Amino acid sequence: MVSVETIADRLVEYVARKASGLPVDDIDLHRITGSSRYPIMRKVVNIVVSDIVAIQKGLIRCGICGKGPFTKRGFYLHLTRVHRSEIISMITESYEELAKHYVPPKY
Ligand SMILES: [Zn+2]
Repeated sequence: MVSVETIADRLVEYVARKASGLPVDDIDLHRITGSSRYPIMRKVVNIVVSDIVAIQKGLIRCGICGKGPFTKRGFYLHLTRVHRSEIISMITESYEELAKHYVPPKY
């Protein structure tokens, strides 16, 4: 099975796109995470996205370092170039925290 760190690394662009308000496709998220980790990773992505973006008066600012305002594209580039390692850590930590308490649905 692929490690959580590897998945987190592959998710940086998806998370950065979503945080920037650029279009994202749920199918891509599912493809990156795989079926078994998808339910938790979907929550993780939303948690991390809300932590890394700070909208002030309709302008995009960085939730990690406070810089901005950015355009959508500018913020995407800022996140993927400047904060890549932080985003990977945030995804990994958030995943491990949620996975501890996760009870798989019964069918
Ligand atoms: Zn920043």
